[in-house]
Amino acid sequence: MVRGRFAPSPTGALHLGNARTALLAWLHARAHGGAFVMRVEDLDFGRVRPGIMERQLDELRWLGLDWDEGPDVGGPFGPYVQSQRQERYDAALRTLAQRGLLFECTCSRKDIAQAASAPHAGEEGPRYTGACRDHRVDPAVPSLMAHGRSLFALRMRVEPGAVCFADGVMGDCCFDPAAEGGDFVVRRRDGAAAYQLAVVVDDAAMGMTHVVRGADLLSSTARQILLCRALDLPVPAFVHVPLMLGPDGERLAKRHGAVSLGDLREAGVPPERVAGWLAASCGLAAPGEDARPAELVRRFDVARLSREPTTVSEADLARLRGG
Ligand code: GLU
Repeated sequence: MVRGRFAPSPTGALHLGNARTALLAWLHARAHGGAFVMRVEDLDFGRVRPGIMERQLDELRWLGLDWDEGPDVGGPFGPYVQSQRQERYDAALRTLAQRGLLFECTCSRKDIAQAASAPHAGEEGPRYTGACRDHRVDPAVPSLMAHGRSLFALRMRVEPGAVCFADGVMGDCCFDPAAEGGDFVVRRRDGAAAYQLAVVVDDAAMGMTHVVRGADLLSSTARQILLCRALDLPVPAFVHVPLMLGPDGERLAKRHGAVSLGDLREAGVPPERVAGWLAASCGLAAPGEDARPAELVRRFDVARLSREPTTVSEADLARLRGG
Protein backbone atom coordinates (compact mmCIF):
# COMPACT_ATOMS: atom_id res chain seq x y z
CA MET A 1 0.00 0.00 0.00
CA VAL A 2 1.21 3.47 -0.87
CA ARG A 3 2.11 5.64 2.14
CA GLY A 4 2.88 9.29 1.53
CA ARG A 5 3.50 12.27 3.75
CA PHE A 6 3.82 16.00 4.07
CA ALA A 7 6.48 17.22 6.48
CA PRO A 8 6.09 20.92 7.25
CA SER A 9 8.52 22.83 9.44
CA PRO A 10 6.68 25.08 11.91
CA THR A 11 8.91 28.06 11.25
CA GLY A 12 6.56 30.36 9.33
CA ALA A 13 3.34 30.72 7.40
CA LEU A 14 2.49 28.15 4.72
CA HIS A 15 2.53 29.95 1.39
CA LEU A 16 1.05 28.88 -1.92
CA GLY A 17 4.18 26.96 -2.91
CA ASN A 18 4.11 24.85 0.28
CA ALA A 19 0.37 24.40 -0.12
CA ARG A 20 0.77 23.12 -3.68
CA THR A 21 3.42 20.62 -2.57
CA ALA A 22 1.10 19.46 0.23
CA LEU A 23 -1.82 19.17 -2.21
CA LEU A 24 0.26 17.17 -4.71
CA ALA A 25 1.61 14.84 -2.00
CA TRP A 26 -1.96 14.30 -0.77
CA LEU A 27 -3.30 13.73 -4.30
CA HIS A 28 -0.51 11.27 -5.02
CA ALA A 29 -1.34 9.20 -1.93
CA ARG A 30 -5.10 9.36 -2.42
CA ALA A 31 -4.96 8.63 -6.16
CA HIS A 32 -3.16 5.39 -5.26
CA GLY A 33 -5.70 4.60 -2.54
CA GLY A 34 -2.89 5.11 -0.05
CA ALA A 35 -2.47 6.52 3.42
CA PHE A 36 -1.37 10.09 4.06
CA VAL A 37 0.74 11.07 7.05
CA MET A 38 1.43 14.50 8.52
CA ARG A 39 4.83 14.80 10.21
CA VAL A 40 6.02 17.98 11.84
CA GLU A 41 9.73 18.71 11.40
CA ASP A 42 10.51 20.97 14.33
CA LEU A 43 14.20 20.31 14.94
CA ASP A 44 15.34 23.77 13.91
CA PHE A 45 14.92 25.05 17.44
CA GLY A 46 16.22 28.50 16.58
CA ARG A 47 13.43 29.10 14.04
CA VAL A 48 10.47 27.13 15.37
CA ARG A 49 7.76 29.36 16.84
CA PRO A 50 5.01 28.28 19.22
CA GLY A 51 1.53 27.99 17.76
CA ILE A 52 2.69 27.70 14.15
CA MET A 53 2.27 23.93 13.96
CA GLU A 54 -1.38 24.20 15.02
CA ARG A 55 -1.95 27.01 12.54
CA GLN A 56 -0.37 25.11 9.65
CA LEU A 57 -2.45 22.01 10.33
CA ASP A 58 -5.61 24.10 10.63
CA GLU A 59 -4.89 25.81 7.29
CA LEU A 60 -4.19 22.53 5.50
CA ARG A 61 -7.52 21.18 6.75
CA TRP A 62 -9.23 24.39 5.64
CA LEU A 63 -7.76 23.80 2.18
CA GLY A 64 -9.48 20.41 2.16
CA LEU A 65 -6.67 17.99 3.00
CA ASP A 66 -6.94 15.26 5.60
CA TRP A 67 -4.47 12.79 7.07
CA ASP A 68 -4.73 9.32 8.53
CA GLU A 69 -1.86 9.79 10.95
CA GLY A 70 -0.36 12.90 12.45
CA PRO A 71 0.32 14.86 15.62
CA ASP A 72 -3.33 15.72 16.18
CA VAL A 73 -4.85 12.37 15.15
CA GLY A 74 -2.21 9.91 16.40
CA GLY A 75 -1.42 6.66 14.61
CA PRO A 76 0.69 3.53 14.91
CA PHE A 77 4.03 5.11 14.02
CA GLY A 78 3.97 8.14 16.31
CA PRO A 79 4.97 10.44 17.76
CA TYR A 80 4.59 12.52 14.59
CA VAL A 81 6.59 15.49 15.86
CA GLN A 82 10.33 15.15 15.36
CA SER A 83 11.37 16.77 18.64
CA GLN A 84 9.73 13.80 20.39
CA ARG A 85 11.71 11.20 18.42
CA GLN A 86 15.26 11.85 19.58
CA GLU A 87 15.99 8.32 20.81
CA ARG A 88 15.36 6.96 17.31
CA TYR A 89 17.90 9.36 15.87
CA ASP A 90 20.40 8.48 18.61
CA ALA A 91 20.02 4.78 17.79
CA ALA A 92 20.74 5.50 14.11
CA LEU A 93 23.79 7.59 15.07
CA ARG A 94 25.10 4.71 17.19
CA THR A 95 24.78 2.36 14.21
CA LEU A 96 26.62 4.79 11.94
CA ALA A 97 29.36 5.23 14.55
CA GLN A 98 29.74 1.47 14.94
CA ARG A 99 30.16 1.23 11.19
CA GLY A 100 33.00 3.76 11.31
CA LEU A 101 31.09 6.32 9.27
CA LEU A 102 31.00 9.27 11.68
CA PHE A 103 33.56 11.80 12.78
CA GLU A 104 33.51 14.65 15.25
CA CYS A 105 33.61 18.05 13.71
CA THR A 106 34.41 21.30 15.43
CA CYS A 107 34.58 23.40 12.28
CA SER A 108 32.18 25.83 10.69
CA ARG A 109 29.45 26.75 13.15
CA LYS A 110 27.41 28.15 10.31
CA ASP A 111 27.23 24.90 8.32
CA ILE A 112 26.34 23.07 11.47
CA ALA A 113 23.59 25.50 12.38
CA GLN A 114 22.20 25.27 8.84
CA ALA A 115 21.95 21.49 9.05
CA ALA A 116 18.89 21.92 11.26
CA SER A 117 16.66 22.63 8.28
CA ALA A 118 16.11 21.15 4.89
CA PRO A 119 18.45 23.01 2.51
CA HIS A 120 16.12 24.78 0.13
CA ALA A 121 17.31 26.31 -3.14
CA GLY A 122 20.35 28.50 -2.61
CA GLU A 123 20.79 27.41 1.00
CA GLU A 124 23.43 24.74 0.45
CA GLY A 125 26.69 25.82 2.01
CA PRO A 126 30.07 25.40 0.33
CA ARG A 127 31.65 21.95 0.14
CA TYR A 128 33.01 20.77 3.49
CA THR A 129 36.80 20.84 3.49
CA GLY A 130 37.28 17.62 5.42
CA ALA A 131 39.43 19.29 8.08
CA CYS A 132 38.12 17.09 10.92
CA ARG A 133 37.82 13.84 8.99
CA ASP A 134 40.34 11.98 11.12
CA HIS A 135 38.46 12.54 14.36
CA ARG A 136 36.57 9.30 14.10
CA VAL A 137 33.90 8.69 16.69
CA ASP A 138 34.82 5.86 18.98
CA PRO A 139 31.51 4.07 19.59
CA ALA A 140 33.05 2.42 22.64
CA VAL A 141 33.00 5.78 24.44
CA PRO A 142 29.31 6.14 25.27
CA SER A 143 29.55 9.74 26.40
CA LEU A 144 30.37 10.76 22.85
CA MET A 145 26.94 9.68 21.78
CA ALA A 146 25.10 11.02 24.79
CA HIS A 147 22.29 13.50 24.56
CA GLY A 148 22.88 17.13 24.96
CA ARG A 149 25.25 19.86 24.01
CA SER A 150 28.80 18.98 23.07
CA LEU A 151 31.80 20.68 21.58
CA PHE A 152 31.37 19.07 18.23
CA ALA A 153 28.86 18.06 15.64
CA LEU A 154 28.93 14.64 13.98
CA ARG A 155 29.45 14.33 10.26
CA MET A 156 28.96 11.37 7.98
CA ARG A 157 31.94 10.41 5.80
CA VAL A 158 31.05 10.47 2.14
CA GLU A 159 33.17 8.64 -0.42
CA PRO A 160 33.32 9.97 -3.99
CA GLY A 161 30.88 8.41 -6.44
CA ALA A 162 27.58 9.07 -8.13
CA VAL A 163 24.34 8.21 -6.38
CA CYS A 164 21.57 7.70 -8.94
CA PHE A 165 17.82 7.36 -8.63
CA ALA A 166 14.77 7.54 -10.86
CA ASP A 167 12.59 10.44 -9.75
CA GLY A 168 8.88 10.29 -10.52
CA VAL A 169 8.88 13.76 -12.08
CA MET A 170 12.50 14.72 -12.68
CA GLY A 171 13.47 11.41 -14.33
CA ASP A 172 16.90 9.81 -13.94
CA CYS A 173 19.06 11.83 -11.58
CA CYS A 174 22.64 11.37 -10.42
CA PHE A 175 24.50 13.40 -7.81
CA ASP A 176 27.94 13.00 -6.27
CA PRO A 177 27.49 14.07 -2.66
CA ALA A 178 31.24 13.99 -2.06
CA ALA A 179 31.77 16.58 -4.78
CA GLU A 180 28.78 18.73 -3.81
CA GLY A 181 28.47 19.23 -0.06
CA GLY A 182 31.07 16.69 1.03
CA ASP A 183 30.84 15.01 4.44
CA PHE A 184 27.56 16.19 5.88
CA VAL A 185 26.29 16.96 9.37
CA VAL A 186 24.05 14.31 10.93
CA ARG A 187 24.02 15.59 14.50
CA ARG A 188 24.36 19.19 15.56
CA ARG A 189 26.36 20.51 18.49
CA ASP A 190 23.19 20.89 20.53
CA GLY A 191 22.68 17.12 20.33
CA ALA A 192 19.70 17.27 17.97
CA ALA A 193 19.59 15.31 14.75
CA ALA A 194 20.23 17.19 11.53
CA TYR A 195 17.47 17.30 8.90
CA GLN A 196 19.12 14.70 6.62
CA LEU A 197 19.31 12.08 9.34
CA ALA A 198 15.91 12.74 10.90
CA VAL A 199 14.07 12.62 7.58
CA VAL A 200 15.62 9.26 6.64
CA VAL A 201 15.02 7.65 10.02
CA ASP A 202 11.41 8.84 10.11
CA ASP A 203 10.48 8.03 6.52
CA ALA A 204 11.65 4.45 7.14
CA ALA A 205 10.12 4.14 10.62
CA MET A 206 6.81 5.48 9.35
CA GLY A 207 6.77 3.07 6.40
CA MET A 208 6.82 5.74 3.72
CA THR A 209 6.77 4.21 0.25
CA HIS A 210 6.81 7.60 -1.53
CA VAL A 211 8.40 10.92 -0.72
CA VAL A 212 6.63 13.68 -2.63
CA ARG A 213 8.21 17.08 -1.92
CA GLY A 214 9.57 20.25 -3.49
CA ALA A 215 12.21 20.04 -6.21
CA ASP A 216 14.67 22.07 -4.17
CA LEU A 217 15.32 18.94 -2.11
CA LEU A 218 16.36 16.90 -5.17
CA SER A 219 20.07 17.00 -4.41
CA SER A 220 19.49 16.15 -0.71
CA THR A 221 18.02 12.89 -1.95
CA ALA A 222 21.46 11.51 -2.78
CA ARG A 223 22.64 12.07 0.81
CA GLN A 224 19.47 10.49 2.09
CA ILE A 225 20.02 7.42 -0.10
CA LEU A 226 23.56 7.10 1.31
CA LEU A 227 22.10 7.16 4.82
CA CYS A 228 19.48 4.55 3.92
CA ARG A 229 22.21 2.27 2.59
CA ALA A 230 24.43 2.81 5.63
CA LEU A 231 21.54 2.07 8.00
CA ASP A 232 20.10 -0.86 5.98
CA LEU A 233 16.84 1.04 5.50
CA PRO A 234 14.58 0.73 2.43
CA VAL A 235 14.88 3.60 -0.06
CA PRO A 236 11.46 5.14 -0.79
CA ALA A 237 10.40 6.25 -4.27
CA PHE A 238 11.01 9.98 -4.80
CA VAL A 239 8.72 12.41 -6.58
CA HIS A 240 10.08 15.96 -6.64
CA VAL A 241 7.41 18.40 -7.70
CA PRO A 242 8.18 21.76 -9.31
CA LEU A 243 8.58 24.85 -7.18
CA MET A 244 6.36 27.88 -7.51
CA LEU A 245 8.04 31.20 -8.30
CA GLY A 246 6.68 34.72 -8.02
CA PRO A 247 6.41 37.17 -10.96
CA ASP A 248 10.06 38.19 -10.39
CA GLY A 249 11.28 34.60 -10.78
CA GLU A 250 12.09 34.27 -7.07
CA ARG A 251 10.51 31.75 -4.70
CA LEU A 252 7.10 32.97 -3.56
CA ALA A 253 7.38 35.02 -0.38
CA LYS A 254 5.75 37.81 1.59
CA ARG A 255 7.04 40.47 -0.75
CA HIS A 256 4.71 39.09 -3.42
CA GLY A 257 1.70 40.22 -1.35
CA ALA A 258 -0.86 37.92 0.18
CA VAL A 259 0.52 34.52 -0.75
CA SER A 260 0.09 32.60 2.49
CA LEU A 261 -2.91 30.38 3.14
CA GLY A 262 -3.61 32.44 6.26
CA ASP A 263 -3.69 35.74 4.31
CA LEU A 264 -6.02 34.33 1.68
CA ARG A 265 -8.32 32.78 4.24
CA GLU A 266 -8.51 36.04 6.17
CA ALA A 267 -9.27 37.92 2.98
CA GLY A 268 -12.31 35.67 2.53
CA VAL A 269 -11.01 33.69 -0.45
CA PRO A 270 -12.86 30.35 -0.40
CA PRO A 271 -10.68 27.25 -0.03
CA GLU A 272 -12.02 25.65 -3.22
CA ARG A 273 -10.80 28.67 -5.16
CA VAL A 274 -7.33 28.26 -3.65
CA ALA A 275 -7.25 24.51 -4.32
CA GLY A 276 -8.56 25.00 -7.89
CA TRP A 277 -5.97 27.72 -8.52
CA LEU A 278 -3.15 25.52 -7.18
CA ALA A 279 -4.32 22.64 -9.37
CA ALA A 280 -4.65 24.89 -12.44
CA SER A 281 -1.10 26.13 -11.88
CA CYS A 282 0.17 22.64 -12.63
CA GLY A 283 -2.33 21.60 -15.30
CA LEU A 284 -4.70 19.58 -13.09
CA ALA A 285 -7.65 22.00 -13.38
CA ALA A 286 -8.86 24.59 -15.88
CA PRO A 287 -7.84 28.20 -15.16
CA GLY A 288 -10.50 29.83 -12.99
CA GLU A 289 -12.06 26.51 -11.98
CA ASP A 290 -12.92 26.04 -8.31
CA ALA A 291 -12.24 22.55 -7.00
CA ARG A 292 -12.02 20.76 -3.70
CA PRO A 293 -8.98 18.49 -3.36
CA ALA A 294 -11.25 15.43 -3.19
CA GLU A 295 -12.63 16.34 -6.64
CA LEU A 296 -9.13 16.34 -8.09
CA VAL A 297 -8.09 12.85 -7.01
CA ARG A 298 -9.29 11.15 -10.19
CA ARG A 299 -7.56 13.70 -12.40
CA PHE A 300 -4.18 13.43 -10.71
CA ASP A 301 -1.46 12.11 -12.98
CA VAL A 302 2.15 12.54 -12.09
CA ALA A 303 3.04 12.44 -15.80
CA ARG A 304 1.27 15.80 -16.26
CA LEU A 305 3.59 17.60 -13.89
CA SER A 306 6.26 19.72 -15.50
CA ARG A 307 9.94 19.49 -14.57
CA GLU A 308 10.19 23.25 -14.79
CA PRO A 309 9.26 25.57 -11.94
CA THR A 310 5.93 27.36 -12.27
CA THR A 311 6.15 31.15 -12.49
CA VAL A 312 2.95 32.83 -11.39
CA SER A 313 2.12 36.26 -12.78
CA GLU A 314 0.58 39.27 -11.02
CA ALA A 315 -2.58 38.54 -12.99
CA ASP A 316 -2.68 34.94 -11.71
CA LEU A 317 -2.33 36.18 -8.12
CA ALA A 318 -4.96 38.87 -8.66
CA ARG A 319 -7.38 36.27 -10.04
CA LEU A 320 -6.85 34.15 -6.96
CA ARG A 321 -7.52 37.05 -4.65
CA GLY A 322 -10.68 37.83 -6.59
CA GLY A 323 -9.32 41.04 -8.08
N1 GLU B 1 10.59 19.81 6.59
C1 GLU B 1 11.07 20.00 5.28
C2 GLU B 1 10.65 21.36 4.80
O1 GLU B 1 9.75 21.95 5.33
C3 GLU B 1 10.54 18.97 4.30
C4 GLU B 1 11.45 17.85 4.13
C5 GLU B 1 10.98 16.74 3.25
O2 GLU B 1 9.85 16.74 2.75
O3 GLU B 1 11.78 15.82 3.07
O4 GLU B 1 11.22 21.84 3.90
